[in-house]
Amino acid sequence: MACGRFVGVAAAIALSALTSLACPAAPAPEPRRVLLLHSFGPQFAPWSMISAGLREQLNERSPYPIDLYEASLQTERFSLSGKPGPLLEYVSAMFSDRDPNLIIAMGAPAARFALLNRSRMFPSAPLLVTGADERTLRDAVLTAKDTAIAVAIEPEKQIESILQVLPETTTIAVVIGDSPLERFWVDELRLAFARFNDRVTFDWLNKLSFDEMIARVANLPPRSAIYYATIRMDARGVPHEEDRALMRLHELGTAPIFTYIDSYFGQGVVGGPMLSTQDVADRSAIVAARILGGEAPDTIKSPAIGLAQPTFDWRELSRWNIPEANLPKDSLVLFRASGLWAEYRAQVIAVFAAMLTQGALIGWLIFEHRRRHLAEVRSRNSMAQLAQMNRVSTVGELSASIAHEINQPLTGITTRASAALRWLSRDPPEFQKARDALSQIVAASSRTSEIVTSIRAMVGKAPDERADVDLNRIITTVLEIMRIELQRNEIDVALALDATLRKVRCSRVQIEQVVLNLIINAVEAMQSTRPRVLRISTATSGSDMARVSIEDSGPGIEPSHADQVFKALFTTKPGGIGIGLAICRSIVEGHGGRIWVSPAAHRGAVFHFELPLSAAQKSSGGT
Ligand code: ADP
Repeated sequence: MACGRFVGVAAAIALSALTSLACPAAPAPEPRRVLLLHSFGPQFAPWSMISAGLREQLNERSPYPIDLYEASLQTERFSLSGKPGPLLEYVSAMFSDRDPNLIIAMGAPAARFALLNRSRMFPSAPLLVTGADERTLRDAVLTAKDTAIAVAIEPEKQIESILQVLPETTTIAVVIGDSPLERFWVDELRLAFARFNDRVTFDWLNKLSFDEMIARVANLPPRSAIYYATIRMDARGVPHEEDRALMRLHELGTAPIFTYIDSYFGQGVVGGPMLSTQDVADRSAIVAARILGGEAPDTIKSPAIGLAQPTFDWRELSRWNIPEANLPKDSLVLFRASGLWAEYRAQVIAVFAAMLTQGALIGWLIFEHRRRHLAEVRSRNSMAQLAQMNRVSTVGELSASIAHEINQPLTGITTRASAALRWLSRDPPEFQKARDALSQIVAASSRTSEIVTSIRAMVGKAPDERADVDLNRIITTVLEIMRIELQRNEIDVALALDATLRKVRCSRVQIEQVVLNLIINAVEAMQSTRPRVLRISTATSGSDMARVSIEDSGPGIEPSHADQVFKALFTTKPGGIGIGLAICRSIVEGHGGRIWVSPAAHRGAVFHFELPLSAAQKSSGGT
C-alpha cells in the first residue's frame, strides 16, 4: 500500500514538472514608472497626506505594478515665472534609460514647473496635473498628453462660514506667508474677500515675520477670527513648516482659527467647508490609473474638486463657545468628547442595574438568612420553653402519682427501719433479719432518690446533656412514675422490651419526656374505651436504630390526622393545647431520629420513634 502511494506521488510531481516545462507561466506585467513631482518637500502638509493617499490608491487601482519616483521643488526659492533649475537635470538623470510612464505634478508650483518644462521633461510621457487651484491653472496650456484635476478652494466660502458660525465677527486676521506663491494667493484672497469689507476688517499678516504674526494673533481684539491660509515662508524669508506654525498659532492665538483644507483639521482649526485631501488623492489616483491603463489623457475631463461637506471640530466649538445651532445644517461634527456617561450610558446603566440587583439580592439573602436564623433561634427557644412548660405541667399532673411513688418507699423504709430496730433489740439480737431490713431500706432509698432525680431533671433546665442511655430503663422509670395513674385508670401494661437493645446516645431527660408524653396521650385516649391496654415494646430497627413503640387500645387516629398530630397547636381535646407531640418530634429529630404514628392491629394507635444507636456501647441494663 505505502509503496503504491509513493509511486503515485512521484508520478504527480513528474507530471507537474512536465506541465510547467510545456506551458511557462505568463510573465508578470512590467511595472509602470511614475514620477511624482511635489510642490514642496514630500513631508509638507497638505501634500504629504495627498501623496500618501495617492500612492495607496494608485497601487490598488493601477492595472500594472507601480514603480514610484518622487522629486520635489524647493518652492520657497521657486519663482512663479518658472526658471528651470537643477530639478530638471535631476529627473532627466533619474529616467535616463527610459521615460516614465506617467508624470504626476501635485500642487500649483509643481504643475507650473511641469507645464513650463513640458517640452524638456519627457514630452512623450503623459502628465497629470493635480491639486492645483483652478486659479493657478488659468493660463495653463495643456498638450494632448496632459490632463488636469483642478481644485476649487473658494476662500470666500470659508469667510461666509466664519460669519455664519460667528456672526459677531468684526476682524479676520489672515495668516499667510510671503513666498512667491503666497504672494499670488494674497492677491487672490484680497479679491475674493473684497465683498466682505463692509462687514469685517481683514488684518493681513503677510508682511510680518512669523514672530510678529504670533504677537499679533495673541492680541487680537474681541470678536476676531483667524483665517489660516499657508505659511511656507515669512516676510523675513524664513521658511516654516506648516504643522508647527499652526500649533503655535493655536497655542497663542486669542481667536478661533479657520482654514481652507482639511489637512490641518484636528490640529486646532474650527472647521467649515474645506478641501478634502482624501478627495484629491482618490480622484488623482483614479485618473492616473486610467492613463496607465492606456486612456488618452486629453480625453479625460475632470471637473474641479470642490469643498467637502462642512466639518467642525467639537473641541474647538466648545473652546470658543460656538453653538452648534450656528453650524450649517449638513455639518459634520467630529472629535465630540462625549464623556464616559454619554458614550457608555447603556453599559453604565447595565452595570449599575446589575450591581443594584446583585446588591439587593445579597441584601435580601442576608436579611432572609438572618430572619431564618432568628426564627430558628426563637423557635428553638420557644420549643425549649414549651418543652420545659410541658414537663412542669406533666409533673404537676402527675404529682399524686409521684407523691405516692415517693411515699411508698418512704413508708417501706419507716416500717423496715422499725423492724430492724426491733430485730436488734431482741435478746439475742437477730442480726440477719435486721441486716435484711436495712438492705431493703438502702434499695428503697436509692429507688426513691432515682425518682426524685428524674423529676428534678424534668422540672429543671439544661436537659440536653447527652449520654449513652438504655431506652428500656427509661421506659421502666417513666412507668414507675406513671404507675398510680395507670392503676387509677385501670390500664394493663404489656411490655415487650428487647433486652439486647443497644444504648442510644441521647439526653435522658428529653427522651423520658417523649415517652412520658406518649404514655399520657395513650392514657387519655383510652378514657372512653375498654379494655385498656398499653403495650410498649423496644427493638433494634435496621442496623443502627433503636425503636420504641407505644400502643394503646383507644379510638386510634384518623389517617388524615397522622401527620397533623405532630404539628404544634393541633389538638382534638377540649382542654388540650396540641404541643405534646410537636415537642416529641422536635426532641426525636433533634437526636437524629424520627417519630410517626400508625394504626394498631385491632384498635387504637401505635406511636413509634427511632433513635440512632450508640456506636460505642452495648445495652447492659443500666444508664
Ligand atoms: P394535646 O394532647 O394537648 O391535644 P398532643 O400534641 O399531645 O396535644 O396531641 C395532639 C392530638 O393528637 C390530640 O389532641 C389527639 O387528637 C391526637 N392524639 C395524640 N395521641 C393520641 C392517641 N394515643 N390516640 C388518639 N389520638 C391521639
